[in-house]
Amino acid sequence: MEYESIIGLEVHAQLLTESKIFCGCSTIFGSPPNTQTCPVCLGLPGVLPVINRKAVEHGIKTVLAVGGKVHAESIFARKNYFYPDLPKGYQISQYEKPLSTGGFIEIDTDSVKKKIKINRIHLEEDAGKSMHPDDESDDETSVDMNRCGIPLIEIVSEPDIASPEEAYLYLTKLRQILQYLGICSGNMEEGALRCDANVSVRPMGVEKFGINTEVKNMNSFRGVEKALSYEIERQIEILEKGGTVVKETLLWDEKKQISSVMRTKEESHDYRYFPEPDLVTLAVSEEWIDQIKRSLPELPEQKKQRFVTQYEIPEYDAGVLTSSKELADYYEECVKYHPESKMVSNWVMGEVLRELKERKIGIKNFKIAPTDLTDLLRLIDEGIISGKMAKEIFAEMTETGKSASEIISEKGLAQITDEEELSRIVEEVLTDNPENVKMYRAGKEKLLGFFVGQVMKRTEGKANPKLVNEVLKAKLSENRDEK
Ligand SMILES: [Zn+2]
Repeated sequence: MEYESIIGLEVHAQLLTESKIFCGCSTIFGSPPNTQTCPVCLGLPGVLPVINRKAVEHGIKTVLAVGGKVHAESIFARKNYFYPDLPKGYQISQYEKPLSTGGFIEIDTDSVKKKIKINRIHLEEDAGKSMHPDDESDDETSVDMNRCGIPLIEIVSEPDIASPEEAYLYLTKLRQILQYLGICSGNMEEGALRCDANVSVRPMGVEKFGINTEVKNMNSFRGVEKALSYEIERQIEILEKGGTVVKETLLWDEKKQISSVMRTKEESHDYRYFPEPDLVTLAVSEEWIDQIKRSLPELPEQKKQRFVTQYEIPEYDAGVLTSSKELADYYEECVKYHPESKMVSNWVMGEVLRELKERKIGIKNFKIAPTDLTDLLRLIDEGIISGKMAKEIFAEMTETGKSASEIISEKGLAQITDEEELSRIVEEVLTDNPENVKMYRAGKEKLLGFFVGQVMKRTEGKANPKLVNEVLKAKLSENRDEK
């Protein structure tokens, strides 16, 4: 039997604000444990939370970027549960009246563009972090409250995602949007972006949804893809054997590449949600929304389309170049100095991206400035160096930080483009190979390659190949009639 999978994702994104969502504590990542806390985020008695305007603004930006509807009024609610990293015994979140509903994210699957609908986006506070020892013999777990109260938005998708690959594409696109907006670092390793998935399967053609499970603890995009594939397989296997899928929460184990049951899944009533009595209704005016709308930057999809029309590059190139705002800026800066837009695109997508991947760095930390790269490209265009030489020089530039011209003069790498000098070398080659010259002139024109090779050998590969061909052809036909 054929099965189809149905996936919905809940993504938590930490918002880039300087202070926490309900107090003035710092949000800097990586500080010593429990140094960024106060009575409010520790949930001591007698304190009152105050909403951080910037966090709301970041939330609204996201809603507008995905085309959702910002509600004029939304309400904070207490989500009650016990966990050691939650000192208040509840998390302030939004439940019945979230910040927004609706919107969508468009993904490019192999064949088509597909819209994944957004159910809602709401604001909430993060919990602390339990720190389990790496050493299993150590049975102590400590807790770091620095993360308590870091502002989050939760982006809940509709169950429109049909495969692990689509989930990967959705997450990539969502992260791209958040990063373009500058409201989330998108760093999954640091926990700035976290994803839970609801998964169910059903036989093809059946309309009723299957029983879904929740998969948690996936800490990379590839991890999400693998965990979902694993869970879909697991559910199909149960159904094939005539069993029933149990509604439960599973934890993905990245090391073992398996998932295990964390708990039977709780229902929302288990959380005893009720309106947060310490916070008033969150009112968002039309003026404020308009003001934020006007401040929105160019978003990934718009930038991609602009690149296609403005620089006349293929959509594929535009997609790669706009994958991050920084890379797009780098490209545009290069084109400003060297308007051969497709040539620049090839170099950025090829050499530059390969270098970044090998060094595991972002474009921000890349040593070669746009003007340095375009200086190199100009040398190719002017025929001073060949494309092959340029790649070697580029590698040297990334190692030493020196400019292309510096490397060329140091190593004597410039191409021989002086026609007189080349003519002299060509003459030498012809004089040294009289037999081959005779055969060429008798009609064996394939020998041209041999002569080119000889010239290249004598010039240690520095001769301009186009010029060598021209000079050779001219010289070889020159005296044809005389003999
Ligand atoms: Zn605090």
